[in-house]
Amino acid sequence: MKTTKSYLSRTVEELKPSGIRRFFDLASGMEGVISLGVGEPDFVTPWSVREAAILSLEQGYTSYTANAGLLELRQEIASYLINSFQVAYKPESEIIVTVGASQAIDIALRSILDPGDEVIIVEPCFVSYSPLVVLAGGKPVHVQAAKDNGFKISGDTLKSAITDKTKAIMICSPNNPTGTLLEEDDLREIAAIAKEHDLLVLSDEIYAELAYDGAYTSMAAIEGMKERTILVSGFSKGFAMTGWRLGFVCAPQYIAEAMLKVHQYGMMCAPTMAQYAGLEALRSGSSDVEEMRKSYRRRRNYMVSSFNEMGLDCHLPGGAFYVFPSIQATGLTSEQFAEQLLMEEKVAVVPGNVFGESGEGYIRCSYATSMEQLQEAVRRIRSFLEKNTK
Ligand code: PMP
Repeated sequence: MKTTKSYLSRTVEELKPSGIRRFFDLASGMEGVISLGVGEPDFVTPWSVREAAILSLEQGYTSYTANAGLLELRQEIASYLINSFQVAYKPESEIIVTVGASQAIDIALRSILDPGDEVIIVEPCFVSYSPLVVLAGGKPVHVQAAKDNGFKISGDTLKSAITDKTKAIMICSPNNPTGTLLEEDDLREIAAIAKEHDLLVLSDEIYAELAYDGAYTSMAAIEGMKERTILVSGFSKGFAMTGWRLGFVCAPQYIAEAMLKVHQYGMMCAPTMAQYAGLEALRSGSSDVEEMRKSYRRRRNYMVSSFNEMGLDCHLPGGAFYVFPSIQATGLTSEQFAEQLLMEEKVAVVPGNVFGESGEGYIRCSYATSMEQLQEAVRRIRSFLEKNTK
């Protein structure tokens, strides 16, 4: 077709493809690659959860649900949130079931942003945040977490990014890619700034089930924060349900109503069979989650000690299934390290710079793969270092 006009939206044209993709594409053409690149559980969804979805199909539950999701599921989510994290949300008016945490973030941003509104994004962070802010018409303002403080954001850095256009701060704990868990005091510091400057906090708590050393604190549980928090979570990570596309978002009623408008026009509802699966996951999945958590914790400890033994400084992440070792001792950039490691030793990792400026000098390794694979990956990385460090 010959045309002189551009059919593509300029906003979309200017978005860069995810930096993670490039490495997957490179690795997918090679044989014998061990991938520490993927951000998803290596477990299959627990059988009872799969069975609940099968049963729902057998019973013929194949139509749309309420736009906000099955009321039963929202009630179960409300009980889960109160029992696990001591946050009380009303199932009828403050919870929406979404197509993964991804859609939850999308409808949250589209509901609160007008053109030019700024959202402060703490980096290193999940690669979707910035593009989703742009697609919602907002302006991402990146701030860098402190490398020398386990990748936690300093209050002063956060404050310095606030302008009269700032509407929200986006945080993620446990974090992708650093694994950093924000403790109650860290959350309090961010909360105080949000309150002082009258900002919302979009809190991505998708990895909350994968916090390894003690109780998890939700931003919404901090005094005075429920009214200014949009809590995003879901089933993908903790319950090993990435392919089901099931998440949820909780917010004060007026924001939930706005999000429901975006959701009902754009999506109608989350997949019905996935919602039945989610119901079962919350009712009976806690022992499966506990087993997975224990297994990840063992692997985290192995990876952290292996990297430190190899001379690649690696902090102990409090959650998620990533380690984020420094590769600065090698003198290579993150991209060079990841590319050469893939070519020479066939181990796929993600260069830290794709998660933001402060990720340069680091690599993200997911340990959601078998212990045997991790041991072999460590052996190969050690051999790579022997050849590449002077
Ligand atoms: N937030 C973070 C921090 C993530 O790492 C991911 C998945 N990689 C998501 C959200 C999206 O999860 P979902 O599968 O629920 O859309």
